[in-house]
Amino acid sequence: MSSTNSEKNKLEGINTKVIHHCKDFAEKTGAVMPPIFQTSTFKHGNPAGFDYTRSGNPNFRILENVLASLEGSKYATVFGSGVSAITAIASSLKKNDLILCEANLYGCTVRLFEQVFQKFGLKALWIDFTKQSSIDSIHQHKPALIWLESPTNPLLKIIDLKKVCSEANKENIPVVVDNTFATPILQKPLELGATISLTSTTKYINGHSDALGGVVCTQDPYWHDCMIFSQKALGLQPSPFDCWLITRGVKTLPLRLEKQIQNASFLADVLADNPSVVSVTYPYRKDHAQYSLAKKQMSKGGAIITVRLAANESNTYSFCKNLKYFSMAESLGGVESLICHPATMTHASVPVDVKEELGITESLVRLSIGCEDEFDLLKDLEEALDQLK
Ligand SMILES: *Cc1c(COP(=O)(O)O)cnc(C)c1O
Repeated sequence: MSSTNSEKNKLEGINTKVIHHCKDFAEKTGAVMPPIFQTSTFKHGNPAGFDYTRSGNPNFRILENVLASLEGSKYATVFGSGVSAITAIASSLKKNDLILCEANLYGCTVRLFEQVFQKFGLKALWIDFTKQSSIDSIHQHKPALIWLESPTNPLLKIIDLKKVCSEANKENIPVVVDNTFATPILQKPLELGATISLTSTTKYINGHSDALGGVVCTQDPYWHDCMIFSQKALGLQPSPFDCWLITRGVKTLPLRLEKQIQNASFLADVLADNPSVVSVTYPYRKDHAQYSLAKKQMSKGGAIITVRLAANESNTYSFCKNLKYFSMAESLGGVESLICHPATMTHASVPVDVKEELGITESLVRLSIGCEDEFDLLKDLEEALDQLK
């Protein structure tokens, strides 16, 4: 029985896919790994069509190919960071356009819309997309773009992406999903109806906390053209070396994530029973407010846990500092576990009343679970919790 190339590709498993891709560069040398194409410019008229690294480089293309295949998208464009990817999308809009945003977006997205793009006439409106009335209001606001994130940071709220996209699609309103927390392994926004899936590759995709990057995936040639234009016109391109690192990192994404998720679901359950813990938020726990939606929308629960401690701000701080394996740091998704105090770190710039309204209180901590052995992480957390008593 013969099969076409595309049929063969369909049969490829996820681990194979991230390891075996784009060998074209190696024809002349036999190199098993791609080189770093550390060049700013290319000879005019080359067959691959490169001209200047601000608008494309072989290392970008290698990474774009593997990320598009993970996402199942026709197009992927890489950027210097997640924030660059957000900038590329927002700068494709025009004066007086409205972005209808989920109220609990990543802090730097909020800052970018409110403190930068607002000056150029873009408007942003913040609503809670877990409410049906918010979804209904899409037709009233008629935004140029809808901006979602699920699970959200740090409260791991789950938005019904399929429902929002299907309402938006009735009026041809493009929907952007920031898929950084879930990754395309756990959730595929384009299949759920989104126009654009955006990921900060700094986090799980690279997974080693040693490079920054962002990617925008789409099936829509219009948005793809916008991304290529933004990359070049705004200077949002990554470096060839960072792309090379992220290409290396993504090879172990499914493996890393599997261990991280296994650790996270174990720790979430044990922490929930600890007397120094008020509550644990984890999408795949039955007590999560959108548990059944999470089960339907995500193939697994992810590796972020949000915990409310029975402690005031200074004790919460001491708890974070007393941990041995969890460094207190921003970012997430690496092989090493991290802990973050959102109220004073990632969400420090959010006004206090807004933080209260969102539920980002002084006793809230966000854990990014790494690949360490689960018993070491548990011992570390339990010892620090004991000191809270
Ligand atoms: C980190 C992050 C970003 C920004 O990505 P950078 O690579 O740090 O610029 C955007 N969205 C989410 C959800 C993130 O966690």
